[in-house]
Amino acid sequence: MSAPDHQIVPKRIAIMGSTGSIGTQALDVIRENPDHFTAEVLVAHSNADLLITQALEFKPNAVVIGDESKYKLVKDTLFEHDIKVFAGPKAIEQIVEMETIDMVLAAIVGYAGLASTINAIRHRKHIALANKETLVVAGDLVTRLAMEHGVNIYPVDSEHSAIFQCLAGEWENPIEKIYLTASGGPFRGKDISFLQTVTREQALRHPNWTMGAKITIDSASLMNKGLEVIEAKWLFNLKPSQIDVIVHPQSIIHSLVQFEDGSIKAQMGLPDMKLPIQYAMAYPQRLKNTFPRFDFINYPNLSFEKPDLGTFRNLALAFDAMHKGGNMPCVLNAANEVVVHAFLEERVGFLQMSDIIETCLAKTSFVNTPAYEEYVACDLETRLMAKALI
Ligand code: NDP
Ligand code: MG
Repeated sequence: MSAPDHQIVPKRIAIMGSTGSIGTQALDVIRENPDHFTAEVLVAHSNADLLITQALEFKPNAVVIGDESKYKLVKDTLFEHDIKVFAGPKAIEQIVEMETIDMVLAAIVGYAGLASTINAIRHRKHIALANKETLVVAGDLVTRLAMEHGVNIYPVDSEHSAIFQCLAGEWENPIEKIYLTASGGPFRGKDISFLQTVTREQALRHPNWTMGAKITIDSASLMNKGLEVIEAKWLFNLKPSQIDVIVHPQSIIHSLVQFEDGSIKAQMGLPDMKLPIQYAMAYPQRLKNTFPRFDFINYPNLSFEKPDLGTFRNLALAFDAMHKGGNMPCVLNAANEVVVHAFLEERVGFLQMSDIIETCLAKTSFVNTPAYEEYVACDLETRLMAKALI
């Protein structure tokens, strides 16, 4: 039974990456549920205009703009509205310490999200985690810190939210294995010769999801699924052999858990990130909403295929990096961020991305249990190596 409305104390959320795809949808969720959530802090990188618009609507306590050249514009506009304004990467890292924050939604894209999430955990803030790269780069360190500080990490990524939802009420029952579903992206079923000539525009056309540019390219190359496999290992404390990927082009089943009695639980719904965002923010509650509902009649066939690891080598590289462990997933992620950026600028071809990532993995010396500083150094060195290879 849910508590009567008058007893609800709104959860104060810091939205890291409020101007992005996840960030704006998180604000949609807050707009729908003003009794349950408030936006305590908004953080953006470069989109000052949208940050200002959001701040004027949601009246946060503070905002941070990563790009310091935009500080004056944001400050001058929000000053009279009594909203604190900070700028720069250090401020992004530190803002999560604010006492009035109950939960941090980590929705900055890429490695750039790592420092603020780690600092939030150190300050005992619960995390709603969209930024999968955090767990790919430093899953060992991040999950250890979360345990030490009594912090919960609630998955926002739809597949991991699905697994989490399937596990509700099953905490004592061991997982036999999980299946992460993958749409297959815009190039599902294509061969190497087709991929040789694909363009940025083709890769950005995802069949089922509208997302930021980086994750959309990752979805086309199946690196996104590779990152998610590693993310799942850390979130659910699994062995690599317990994680499988199945291509499901309709993106209706968001992932599945198989228990030791052979029973499989799946979570279904339309592909819409607002649901997993809301579930992570409201857990353990399920809040009523007006998001569109799934209709079986529109989906008479749900189908499944094996992923093509020969053509989409990124997924195989990610499995390999996960098996090796240590700093290898950090190398995988850093090299991938560099090549995706270059692909978006049309400086490398689609298939070259995997070549460069593979070379970086082969050339980097293995470190078994890196400390934070070693992850930082490994990320930097890999970026230099990948850039030199482009
Ligand atoms: P977007 O590119 O749409 O948004 C990224 C956000 O991060 C923006 O607010 C951007 O600010 C901010 N940002 C970028 N660089 C920096 C930086 N150096 N410092 C601080 N902020 C920065 O990405 P998405 O919303 O698509 O993805 C965010 C994360 O969520 C990713 O890790 C992604 O893998 C994950 N995710 C996303 C899903 C989706 O449906 N979009 C689904 C599952 C996971 P600005 O725009 O102002 O420059
Ligand atoms: Mg996902």
